[in-house]
Amino acid sequence: MFGYCIGSALRRPFASMTGQTSEQPWTVLRLIEWTKDHFTARQVQQPRLSAEVLLAHVLKCRRMDLYTRFGAVPAGEQLAGYRELVRLAAQHEPVAYLVGHREFYSLDFVVTSDVLIPRPETELLVDKAIECLNGLGRHGRYWDACTGCGAVAIATGVRKTDAAVLATDISESALAVARRNIAAHGLGDRITVAAANLLELPADLAELALFDVITANPPYVSASQMDELSPDVRREPRTALFAGEDGLDCIRPIVTQAPDVLGRGGMLAVEIGYGQAEAVWDLVNRVDRYDRVGFARDVAGIERVLVAHKKI
Ligand code: GLN
Repeated sequence: MFGYCIGSALRRPFASMTGQTSEQPWTVLRLIEWTKDHFTARQVQQPRLSAEVLLAHVLKCRRMDLYTRFGAVPAGEQLAGYRELVRLAAQHEPVAYLVGHREFYSLDFVVTSDVLIPRPETELLVDKAIECLNGLGRHGRYWDACTGCGAVAIATGVRKTDAAVLATDISESALAVARRNIAAHGLGDRITVAAANLLELPADLAELALFDVITANPPYVSASQMDELSPDVRREPRTALFAGEDGLDCIRPIVTQAPDVLGRGGMLAVEIGYGQAEAVWDLVNRVDRYDRVGFARDVAGIERVLVAHKKI
């Protein structure tokens, strides 16, 4: 992969866009920079990062390793593979689906188009779960509902090795991905996986209640927001995103039902959408079974996670 072996056929797709038809080789650095500009023009999210993730994938190295190989010239086959990924990403196929995984809480997770791609702001759920489980002073009982690829349940389970973890989702195809991730992180013995709609605990798992901590990143996109989603988000499962006219069709039952399955003082942490905090605050007050209610903000300063404790 270090040879200057590039033929005109392989050079063309990149050269045509840069206007450079010279014999300059397509080094790692040139590929990243060309792709970054191409992605910027096509409004692909995080253009440079996306270029690096795709290139590292075809070169079978870590993204960081690219930085020590800027002058290297990928072989023809690798370049062809990269070109195809760049084409698909420019058409807004999410990069995480193209490479088949995504980092979350410094851990690696398999993702497919059956699951929502874990977002950095969702790491707040893990922080809250760990914080609360740490404060118990005994083995905790923890339920991650709407688990998708299992990222929140697994990231928490990896750090809280004494907690019993339940991970549920309504989608069987999402649970298949979660099971793969649970096995990959060696948590098969510690995480129970089951199909469930929101917080409707399956009868055969009733003995797992009451829980000390419940987390959920449910669908919360409203009808009008669905029309405004960026093209790459539209490729993600609609069932993981859409939650009715006001986006609260899943949050409402979760907030209403959680006190039935939480122990005294148990914590509910639910991710919510931009601008939903006020409506969720009203809902929590109407349910009237919580105290110590607040919202954790994400790095953008948005109230992102409802945190509420069941009244003692
Ligand atoms: N945060 C997601 C988005 O970017 C929505 C995820 C969800 O509905 N839980 O649209």
